[in-house]
Amino acid sequence: MIDKTIFENKTAAYYTLGCKLNFAETSTIGRLLGEQGVRRVRNGEKADICVVNTCTVTELADKKCRQAIRRIHKLHPNAFVVVTGCYAQLKPEEVASIEGVDLVLGAEQKTDILSYLNRPGKTVITSKIRDIHTFAPSCSSDDRTRHFLKVQDGCDYFCSYCTIPFARGRSRNGSIADMVKQAEEVVRQGGKEIVLTGVNIGDFGKTTNETFLNLIRALDEVEGIARYRISSIEPNLITDEMIAFVARSKRFAPHFHIPLQSGSDAVLKEMRRKYDTALFRYKVEKIKEMIPEAFIGADVIVGARGETNELFDETYTFIRSLDIARLHVFCYSERPGTQALEITHRVSPQTKQARSRLLLDLSEDKHRAFYTRHIGCRADVLFEHQHKDGRMYGFTQNYIKVETPCRETTPNEVTRVILTGWNPAQTALTCHIIGRS
Ligand code: SF4
Repeated sequence: MIDKTIFENKTAAYYTLGCKLNFAETSTIGRLLGEQGVRRVRNGEKADICVVNTCTVTELADKKCRQAIRRIHKLHPNAFVVVTGCYAQLKPEEVASIEGVDLVLGAEQKTDILSYLNRPGKTVITSKIRDIHTFAPSCSSDDRTRHFLKVQDGCDYFCSYCTIPFARGRSRNGSIADMVKQAEEVVRQGGKEIVLTGVNIGDFGKTTNETFLNLIRALDEVEGIARYRISSIEPNLITDEMIAFVARSKRFAPHFHIPLQSGSDAVLKEMRRKYDTALFRYKVEKIKEMIPEAFIGADVIVGARGETNELFDETYTFIRSLDIARLHVFCYSERPGTQALEITHRVSPQTKQARSRLLLDLSEDKHRAFYTRHIGCRADVLFEHQHKDGRMYGFTQNYIKVETPCRETTPNEVTRVILTGWNPAQTALTCHIIGRS
């Protein structure tokens, strides 16, 4: 039973660290408190309740969470501070020991926050991660035009370097019918673009006996959504059928984000990934064969334990040979409790930085090449926001950033353009508007 009086005339501030999934879940927490009459604070206003949704993907992420909590406590000295999210699930006592923290909630309690807000004194409530089976549906909008729809949570893969399965639990998902309802709600709110998010979204359907392919087929039928993006999907879970579907879809953007992590089979094996470089290459080539204009981004981890100079060279050569548009490069971070710690070969921080620089330079070259080969092409751009520099920015279906003077278009509107030139300062293409879509 929730004591509603504790919410009377209260205000709240929300802070999110980490991935889009966390943003979607913070948005759900905000909605739950909002339904009790708790108003979101305005800029500069002191809050009665602060909710901090944390991340633990790297050592640096943990540090940023601790710094953020201390800063929030200083900003809102009298607020009741609730900390939840992956860091809170994995290290609840460490979080509770930070000055100003009143309540620590684990992954399962995150969206059940209303039941816990009236606990006196410092309280820590978490569940054992193997006992977490609930799926909390969430959808958030960013400050631009995108909505992030959580379709799946947790992961059953247990890659050797990753703590996510320990922080978020086993793979689970909502039903296709629920996801369609949420997409229809986005349409009612005037949203045009939805990004499907999850920890391992290709695994969608395990708990409902459905499939990711049927999910995207059903979402494609929702009238009013201009485009969907599939946020990130494991290479072994991308099927030829899925690629063919995106190729002829009305709404799914030709945009794939695929975690590669390493271009060396030896390192992939140590990482316990479920594919090798031959499979990754096959998927990239299949996408390009069926959708030549597709944007393909890839995540790479440099400096993992076991990554010798020779094995990093293999990664570099492999990635250089792939027709991909951009890399997201991460330096390997030691995570307590992971199997990767048993691998003896370690990479120094300097070497990690040097490898990261090399791949970022390669990424920049690929990104520019992908953009500039579209100059002269027609495209539909969803313009997102006005910038202080008097320009408006948006993205094409295949994720090319496009700019135009603000007076020429309006946000959240799909506009037909011809791409005219390359602006290196903004890593964007300029355009000439030719009409509305
Ligand atoms: S697929 Fe691997 S890296 Fe990704 S969340 Fe699951 S265990 Fe972690």
